[in-house]
Amino acid sequence: MRERQDGKGENQRFCRAGFLQKPARQKVGVQEMIAEVIVDIAAGETDRIYDYLCDDGTEAGSRVRAPFGGKVVPGFVMRLKETSDCPPGKLRRVYPCPDGMPALNGECLFLAEKLTARYRVPKALVLRLFLPSEMRTGKVRELMKSYVSLRVPVSEMTFPKTAKNQRGAAEYLEAHGKTECGYLNGLFPGSVSALEKKGYAEVAKEQRLRDPYRGLDGEQPGHILTDDQRAAVEKIGTDKRTVQLLHGVTGSGKTEIYLTLIADCLRQGKSAIFLVPEISLTPQMLAQLRARFGRNAAIMHSGLSAGERFDEWWRLRTGEAKIAIGARSAVFAPVENVGVIIVDEEHDSSYSSETAPRYNTFDVAYLRAKYNGCKLVLGSATPAVETYKRATDGEFGLIRLEKRINRKPLPEIIIADMRREVRRGNNSAFSSPLRAELEKCLSSGNQAILFLNRRGYSQTVICKECGYVAKCEACDVSLTYHRDEDCLKCHYCGARYKVPVACPECGGTKLSYAGTGTQRIVADLSRLYPSARILRMDNDTTSGKEGHYKILKAFGERQADILVGTQMIAKGHDFPSVTLVGILDADMSLHFSDYRSGERTFQLITQVAGRSGRAEEKGKVVLQTFSPENDVLRYAVAYDYEGFYRNEISLRAAAMFPPFSKIVRVLVTGEDEKKTIEALRSAYVGLEGLYTANPEKFLFFNRMHAPIRRIQNRFRYQVLMRLSDTSVLPQVYDVCAQSRTRDVLVSVEENPVNLS
Ligand code: ADP
Ligand code: ZN
Repeated sequence: MRERQDGKGENQRFCRAGFLQKPARQKVGVQEMIAEVIVDIAAGETDRIYDYLCDDGTEAGSRVRAPFGGKVVPGFVMRLKETSDCPPGKLRRVYPCPDGMPALNGECLFLAEKLTARYRVPKALVLRLFLPSEMRTGKVRELMKSYVSLRVPVSEMTFPKTAKNQRGAAEYLEAHGKTECGYLNGLFPGSVSALEKKGYAEVAKEQRLRDPYRGLDGEQPGHILTDDQRAAVEKIGTDKRTVQLLHGVTGSGKTEIYLTLIADCLRQGKSAIFLVPEISLTPQMLAQLRARFGRNAAIMHSGLSAGERFDEWWRLRTGEAKIAIGARSAVFAPVENVGVIIVDEEHDSSYSSETAPRYNTFDVAYLRAKYNGCKLVLGSATPAVETYKRATDGEFGLIRLEKRINRKPLPEIIIADMRREVRRGNNSAFSSPLRAELEKCLSSGNQAILFLNRRGYSQTVICKECGYVAKCEACDVSLTYHRDEDCLKCHYCGARYKVPVACPECGGTKLSYAGTGTQRIVADLSRLYPSARILRMDNDTTSGKEGHYKILKAFGERQADILVGTQMIAKGHDFPSVTLVGILDADMSLHFSDYRSGERTFQLITQVAGRSGRAEEKGKVVLQTFSPENDVLRYAVAYDYEGFYRNEISLRAAAMFPPFSKIVRVLVTGEDEKKTIEALRSAYVGLEGLYTANPEKFLFFNRMHAPIRRIQNRFRYQVLMRLSDTSVLPQVYDVCAQSRTRDVLVSVEENPVNLS
């Protein structure tokens, strides 16, 4: 338990979270220092250091409350000093928050400097990343409980005959030790205050930590590592390079390697950060981690209540817990002396932030690894093309795990040619091979997962007869149908095309725009298999806390035979009785209008396939497509990552797509269209200046409407660039920082995941 310095009478009612109370009167006679303070207001105008007077006990990284423009606002002490350029009479005083220790440690302050410089956003915005949001809003406090304990032994107490409750309570306390007041009063009404009055007992407030995983603790030993796993752990330890890529097929025992690395850290008294995609934080996984590491593991995910998140954060900050486990934002965990940082499923798109500041998790993790002199371990069965290139180029260490632990073959993937189905008059969403396999699976009492890769509004035109897909002539990526303007658009160059009436390749007229939604699939399935129990999982069914956990849990408990869902079912789940996975529309991601669509498709198929045949029975996968001869699908079916990679990297090189260039989008959004256009204009002028001065560094430069012109009442404009040389990137950030106003957001996205 950390030491608390806030037990000073009137201050006791402060909570860490809050800035709820007015600052106390200025104290006199305290040694004074000058604090350089960043006020917690995310605006360009206030993004500078302000000098304040502070008490001697204030430390760098402390949270304070600062009088500012007639209000009292939260702030952070960045540095302390003896003198200020501001005349002494003008300096105002900040008031410390009774946190007991600075909320931000030295490493946080270092990272904040680096990230502010990298992403050119107000420092307050960056500092916020390091704290649980509950702490800023002041809505959560520590859970304080009163406890009573004895001051003298019962044998030295005297009680009147009638005071049965007092005696009973005293004896209870002697037998059981410190007890919560409310509990004792429940057993022996009125006893606590009576014993306290007599001086026999004392009452003290203590923090009780809300612990979401109470009861799961243990010190379970891990598996004995296989030779391959042992070799991997050793290589990670001895190789000089900071970043190590662990490329291992699903089921090759990567998780066990991570856990071993973490356990080694603990043994050396160091801490660890373990990042996973949010979706893989399943109850199974959490239970496994707590069983292995007990209360050393602090888990941060969106399913926790605000109070739980707050307490987990403090457990890490005080060093009570040493392992931070969580999704993207856990990369900012307040741990010190980090011994290893692990990023599981490193290719997952959830690692880049889509809100300001749009940091990349890898960048932050890398800075932290360098700061701590520790390893950054990236793991995946299907590494991002960019990561794999850096590994094969020798920049990162590369470790391969080619065998599955149980030596079971990966499930067989069967391709179902949907053009043939259509020619045969089957216009349904289910091919005949899929139906045959589904019937086999259901009749043998196993479970099936049907996966639908529907992505939002994005629709590509596909000819159902020949598999033709409309592509941009200039960019070689698929076009996206825009219903509002009834045209096809390229998201990389803005080109517009008329919607074809007939297929330009085969003249067929069965052109399809829309994927079929999960809801339709479920309806069709229940018609085909009336006795099958079906569960659906997509964005519509998973709202609310733990929505998707509930569905997965129900499916895991075999309350359903078929699970129908979108990409959220692709990852991390272990259902032993699933023997069939159907991928209904492999094309939807293949022709998604994104240069990464091949990569995405390969990753998705590999992952979804990994859900089948985890236990004794052999698994099968049916992959439905209109383009069975497509290279990406062929490599995926053969589980040939290397082949896929070689093919993909040569395509990227030829088209000068990342990693051979960098796509940069400057997105300008605001509610007031005129102001938004003004900001766009200002950004554009600056960027155009850059472009005309360095044309050789730009492969592409253009200003246009964002593909979706308005989202949540905000008008959206963009300047899209493709850079062959990123040395101009800092200037791009500068221009954008200057164009930002109170009402208009101007953000820079590097290789954005989503160009909508
Ligand atoms: P990955 O993360 O690469 O997909 P996992 O770490 O989940 O693979 O391992 C797959 C399965 O093998 C798990 O059920 C795990 O418990 C088991 N396993 C891992 N390492 C060992 C080992 N050394 N001995 C026995 N079983 C192991
Ligand atoms: Zn184009």
